[in-house]
Amino acid sequence: LEAKEEFSHKTLAMDVMRPRRNDPPLTVITQDSMTVEDVESIINETTYSGYPVVVSRESQRLVGFVLRRDLIISIENARKKQDGIVSTSIIYFTDHSPPLPPSSPSMLKLRSILDLSPFTVTDQTPMEIVVDIFRKLGLRQCLVTHNGKLLGIITKKDVLKHIAQLANQDPDSILFN
Ligand code: ADP
Repeated sequence: LEAKEEFSHKTLAMDVMRPRRNDPPLTVITQDSMTVEDVESIINETTYSGYPVVVSRESQRLVGFVLRRDLIISIENARKKQDGIVSTSIIYFTDHSPPLPPSSPSMLKLRSILDLSPFTVTDQTPMEIVVDIFRKLGLRQCLVTHNGKLLGIITKKDVLKHIAQLANQDPDSILFN
């Protein structure tokens, strides 16, 4: 098998990542514009283990990654123990709080639970390399970008499914090559 030919039907990160072509977009949290209530509804309406944090929905610039369980604990704690935290409080992951009118409720800073350097690959990365990275670094998830914009996510389970699929296809590819 020629190296070049082999390369031409290699699976890429974009083929394995979620969302798939007709799926709803990735569920993300913005860095300084969502309320406690907004984030609580994301937690209640989805079961994902974590959420990418972006500068804004329009920019889709990745800021970090936050785990669902850390969000749940921190919001619960803040609602109980932190003065002035209500459903309409803004949650921010930035260093400084966003400028808001003086009449706004207290804001909730959650920078401490943000993973500021989640692992990322570009959408064109061959899955062979992605699998290797997952194995070697023991990743739970990896984010996928294109031109610096967040595009998707690949979890450890997605990688395992991909490997299982390859194993099933192998007999055929041996026959046909
Ligand atoms: P697992 O893959 O272990 O079940 P998750 O529950 O986090 O982990 O993810 C379930 C599926 O949803 C996976 O296929 C994953 O790629 C996708 N996914 C994970 N996080 C998000 C997200 N924030 N938005 C959209 N899809 C996601």
